[in-house]
Amino acid sequence: MNSTKRFGPRYGTKVKKRVAKIEAKQRQKHKCPFCGRFTVKRVSVGIFNCNKCKKKFTGKAYWP
Ligand SMILES: [Zn+2]
Repeated sequence: MNSTKRFGPRYGTKVKKRVAKIEAKQRQKHKCPFCGRFTVKRVSVGIFNCNKCKKKFTGKAYWP
């Protein structure tokens, strides 16, 4: 669940649909658990960074 290799052609439409949903969600800004502002961006898988308080934290693979 943490590698881009999973986007291979051997996955069905069900998975592709789910991935599209997840990607749409991860493009949005997220709420920071420290300052409460929607300034959190995903840095990499499971790592998020808040632009406001500059805190870096881990979350689920796609969103906090
Ligand atoms: Zn913050």
